Amino acid sequence: RHVRVVGHGPLMKALLVEPSTFLRTVIGSIFARHNIAYDAVVNGESALAALAEERRDLLCFSFELGDMRGTDLLREARQRGLLGLTTALMLTSRRERAVFAEALAAGVSECFLKSDLNSFEAYVEQWEKSVTRRLSGRVLLVEDSLTAARFYRKVMSGLGLDVFWFKSAEDAITSLAQQDYQIVVTDYVLDGFQTGLSLIRAVRSQPGKKGEIPILALSALGSASRRVDLLRAGANDFVNKPVVAEELAARLGNLLTLRQLWEQLEAQHELLKEVALRDHLTSLHNRHYLHSAWPHTLARARQEGLVLAVVDVDHFKRVNDEYGHARGDEVLIAIADLLRASCRLPQEAIRYGGEEFLLLLPAMPVADALRMAEELCAQVAASRPAGLQMTVSIGVSSLQEGDDFDRLFARADVALYECKQSGRNCVRQR
Ligand code: GH3
Ligand code: MG
Ligand code: MG
Ligand code: MG
Repeated sequence: RHVRVVGHGPLMKALLVEPSTFLRTVIGSIFARHNIAYDAVVNGESALAALAEERRDLLCFSFELGDMRGTDLLREARQRGLLGLTTALMLTSRRERAVFAEALAAGVSECFLKSDLNSFEAYVEQWEKSVTRRLSGRVLLVEDSLTAARFYRKVMSGLGLDVFWFKSAEDAITSLAQQDYQIVVTDYVLDGFQTGLSLIRAVRSQPGKKGEIPILALSALGSASRRVDLLRAGANDFVNKPVVAEELAARLGNLLTLRQLWEQLEAQHELLKEVALRDHLTSLHNRHYLHSAWPHTLARARQEGLVLAVVDVDHFKRVNDEYGHARGDEVLIAIADLLRASCRLPQEAIRYGGEEFLLLLPAMPVADALRMAEELCAQVAASRPAGLQMTVSIGVSSLQEGDDFDRLFARADVALYECKQSGRNCVRQR
């Protein structure tokens, strides 16, 4: 059987069998819109003749043909071996269950009402996209037979994939560890001492992304138990042998598309997480970040110590009241920039709320932290954030045995309160 390599550029070809001149024009323009080449004939006999001349990817016919019914045309064409994997679409003006049932029994892929050509066009559009879709990526092909491997390679290269072929599971696993692949396609019986099944197990036991690569298994069917074994071992899908090129293409396409969507989702998730954990105004990390990172921060702090400084802007409300909220925002941005600039990793400045910031200072002696806080007070006063005379008060605490975040914070907050009591623009420790 001639292997048509799907998606290799050439147009999809359709045969349209439709007695009505008007519908031939309308449907013809639908095909043209979706890049499908087509011939149109008016009855069943000329359709059979046209199909005998050339096989089509798509056969579209009316149920009501002058010389026979569309379903008879389909049966006859199939019997004469003129169809193969051709997609058959039927149009009818009769909204009757019996007509639909007969069409499906005759092997029609889908039926459409002539009064609803929008559905027909949507189907055609999707069909064309899926059969001509180009794929990209690197395929790890594991197959012991040269003939079979050549065939798969031809199909997959035709789709736009880069194919790397290995005869044994051992070689495939070595290559997978060294190279990046987007999908594994493996036979069951291989060279060497491992089967495709043990290859799949080995791939799935790899840590991280490598272990999550899509796997398509090829299997000379045999028993249901073998298919179940393959799926349970971690194959995502399989193709029975002898492999039909179009089926291999469709399953590869689905697996790769699914993987792509999954990767997009993962990237979006990362992006959203980053957005959710940062303050929009100052682009410092926010309170959510602090709490989500806290278990990790605390675990490290138990080893190396941690100083917490709560930085609160003095009389900030007055800025909003006298100069407006926008000016208040400018002050916050300027102070956030100062705090950020004074931190060196792993030190970190966080916007904890309104005009309140935290400094996390791991592995720093308290005396150094106090000095740093004093310097910050002086810097804020000297820098005139947003052109205004501003000061901050800073309450400091250091992690003690048995502290959780709330206790650590509460002490710093008491120290901050003492700053406010004693005139602001100063540092206290608790
Ligand atoms: P104190 O010295 O005692 O800390 O006085 P204060 O005025 O700084 O403190 P208070 O808590 O009374 O006021 C904080 C103000 O900060 C109130 C709130 O409207 C304002 N604020 C909170 N978030 C923002 C913000 O994102 N932008 C602006 N412009 N103002 C904010
Ligand atoms: Mg084999
Ligand atoms: Mg304040
Ligand atoms: Mg405050």
